[in-house]
Amino acid sequence: MTQASLGESVVQKTVHAQQNNGVSAAVTHTQPLWLLAEVTYRCPLHCAFCYNPTDYDKHTQNELTTEQWIEALRDARKLGAIQLGISGGEPLLRDDIEDIVIEAKKLGYYSNLITSGVGLTEKRIQAFKDGGLDHIQLSMHDITEEINNFITNTKTFELKKKVAAMIKNHGYPMVLNVVIHRYNIGHMKEILEMAQALGADYIELANTQYYGWSLVNRNQLMPTKEQVDEAEAITNEFRANPNNKMKIFFVVPDYFSDRPKKCMNGWGEVFMIVTANGDVLPCHSARSLPNMQFPNVRDSGLAYAWKDSPAFNKYRGDSWMKEPCRSCSEKENDLGGCRCQAFLLSGDAEIADPVCTKSPYRHLIDQAIEDSKNPVLVAQPIVFRNDKNSKRIIAGELNDRVEGFHSLP
Ligand code: SF4
Ligand code: SF4
Repeated sequence: MTQASLGESVVQKTVHAQQNNGVSAAVTHTQPLWLLAEVTYRCPLHCAFCYNPTDYDKHTQNELTTEQWIEALRDARKLGAIQLGISGGEPLLRDDIEDIVIEAKKLGYYSNLITSGVGLTEKRIQAFKDGGLDHIQLSMHDITEEINNFITNTKTFELKKKVAAMIKNHGYPMVLNVVIHRYNIGHMKEILEMAQALGADYIELANTQYYGWSLVNRNQLMPTKEQVDEAEAITNEFRANPNNKMKIFFVVPDYFSDRPKKCMNGWGEVFMIVTANGDVLPCHSARSLPNMQFPNVRDSGLAYAWKDSPAFNKYRGDSWMKEPCRSCSEKENDLGGCRCQAFLLSGDAEIADPVCTKSPYRHLIDQAIEDSKNPVLVAQPIVFRNDKNSKRIIAGELNDRVEGFHSLP
């Protein structure tokens, strides 16, 4: 699963306040419009590209309780959150999602269950419908059973098709997410046709971004620039076809861009993530940054996390920037890109995202693109996301695969 598109529908709000003295003033006001609840890191799938932390195994025994999640939902709503993503791992491995959905409805959230489909039964989907769940996003992987089963290291191909039909039958919009990588990028047309045949209203084609497990498997997953260009051209052609009624969102892979993305719509601007163990983060990978202490809902409320915690304030705005970002005319467009990507690749969390051609570290991206064409590196086995491999990474056993990166998760 990815949350790549979550930020597209939300924008920073400008509030025109009327001051007591009658002088109107425009103040910039940010609020966590999106709360992403990563309710568990447990998952029956083992996707090679999983964005979850590589050390997730540390956090499968200390998940928040139902009451703690409900408290977090209330707290975030008071801060202005209106969209709730219920994600994981596989959220359906918890048996309290129905309770969380009911509370989300009472609080007035627009709620979205982000699932692999494993564990979604007729009984549960009916309970979600009755409880007021607004939206279900289902991950799909390919048109072929072979690639679906290979990349997830499971046998889930037939199940996903059944779940897609179940979602449709219950009157939900059909929202599919397909992570794109070297193994399925050649099937773009067929993937779009499959989505159309399943009655999808919306499909997100999320080119792999390289964090977490996908960074460990970068050489194995990265397609060529030519493949990405062709995939985008096929997508555009499909979009332009008057018979196509699906909304198609193509997430451009930033390694092949000249400029980075405005990560999470800006650090601490609209997104707040509460992880399975209660850590409160401005982005999925933030715990990979050095010298950062993230708040935890067990110790303090979300208002402290959002407004006052040093972690959420650290990279807000642009005062933290170094050159070349500091004096760059484009800094408002991308806020210097992703702090996690900057640190993971260069070791400096405050430098321009290496994706940027103005960054002193752009050569690291160019090298990664070259390495992904090197048959010796590509032939290394994929490190699938599973408990055993997470334990091995925590124990330092896979250092040969991760030593080029400054910190994982
Ligand atoms: S292993 Fe796959 S299904 Fe499970 S959380 Fe990761 S990406 Fe999602
Ligand atoms: S130098 Fe920094 S601010 Fe300028 S375009 Fe590159 S990443 Fe963005």
